Amino acid sequence: MKQKTTHTIDYVPKALVRHTVLTFIFALAYSTFSFAQDYVLTGEGYEAIGPVCEYYPAPNQEPYSIPNTIVRAREGNETNGTECSNFIVTYNGFTPEAQAAFQYAVDIWANTLSSDQPIRVDATFAPLAPGVLGSAGPTGFLTIFGPGVPPSTVFARALAESITNSNSNGIDPDINANFSSTANFYFGLDANPPANQIDFVSVVLHELGHGLGFFGFASANGANTEGSLRNSGFVHMYSQFVENENATSILDFTDPSAELLNQFTGGNLFSNSPLATAANGGTIPEIWAPPTFNGASSYSHWDEIVFNALNPNALMTPQIGQGQAIHDPGAITIGLFEDMGWVICPSLSVEEFTLESLEVTPNPFIDTIRITLPGNYNDSDFNIAVFDVNGRQVFDKDVSSINRIIDVNLSQLNASIYFMTLEDANTGLTVTKKIVRQ
Ligand SMILES: [Zn+2]
Repeated sequence: MKQKTTHTIDYVPKALVRHTVLTFIFALAYSTFSFAQDYVLTGEGYEAIGPVCEYYPAPNQEPYSIPNTIVRAREGNETNGTECSNFIVTYNGFTPEAQAAFQYAVDIWANTLSSDQPIRVDATFAPLAPGVLGSAGPTGFLTIFGPGVPPSTVFARALAESITNSNSNGIDPDINANFSSTANFYFGLDANPPANQIDFVSVVLHELGHGLGFFGFASANGANTEGSLRNSGFVHMYSQFVENENATSILDFTDPSAELLNQFTGGNLFSNSPLATAANGGTIPEIWAPPTFNGASSYSHWDEIVFNALNPNALMTPQIGQGQAIHDPGAITIGLFEDMGWVICPSLSVEEFTLESLEVTPNPFIDTIRITLPGNYNDSDFNIAVFDVNGRQVFDKDVSSINRIIDVNLSQLNASIYFMTLEDANTGLTVTKKIVRQ
């Protein structure tokens, strides 16, 4: 079932500017995945055949509700333009209410992850196998050349395209997703499903999480005597962080082997992603490794017992119950994604979002820019710093807004791309905007 193709993605000069820009953003974000130089796609390590997760409802779980405050705040401010990535969804067979709920889940990810490459999703709403709520996965896994990229490692297509800022497959989908048209779904957006329905937004959010890279190639042989971690010799980036209770990397076990299957089923696997661990209060988060290997859930989820109901990181556990809604990816999953190479959408608090909704005009500019602040910043003090694409500070000034307006003369700058950081002198909140001097 494995396919391997070797076509090479040509490096395009246009990408150079964007890579440099990304380098600076990565530096700001303090990513543990070093993006000091350019990254290029080098080929297709593994073309996915089927979905990576089939999601089943869980019995007897308590209702809970975690709404998404960020998307709601942004929509309340009528500034959808602040999304950090552009998902292009092809909808097949959806009812209007199912499509609206799907789009809401897409908006949550678009407000969570940042990419300069469109993320194309092919979504189908149709009858699935009995009990299956949905399934999704990347359409392929790509190899990348660049500093810090581990050997024999592939990246989910959307992630690979984001890291390298290049397109591997034209307008073909990066993620395939299927959702049951016969399940008893709740299609509301308010994270408040009735006790007898499954929340569709949560299911879509979960499945798209797999499509974006929350997944490892763990499998068991037909006799269930050996485990395998590689496809065509590659591991997925997710597995670079997986270790057991003795801090032994999952990559160190013979593949395939009975011992590897023991690791998959031993109940002692963790992700040592530094950012995920930090988000978990310094404890390495536990991965789902139940005693019986299940190819649709084992290894590629957080532990269902540890991250159970009412835990804000429960989205990527293997089960969801009726009456449960979780509309936030959770800080641990976001941390892992950042360590895997995703750029995280800035301003993940409502307060930061409010500041982020400031407007800079004109942009591109010639000599002077005007910053128009959101409503609660009538007369406030700020520091403005401007950095060039190499991270060098080229401007620094303390300013005050008057009736929400700040005019800044930047005529001394050369024509180029810059990043302007505006820091609220009272709260320390900062927002960074790309500005272009003509
Ligand atoms: Zn799943």
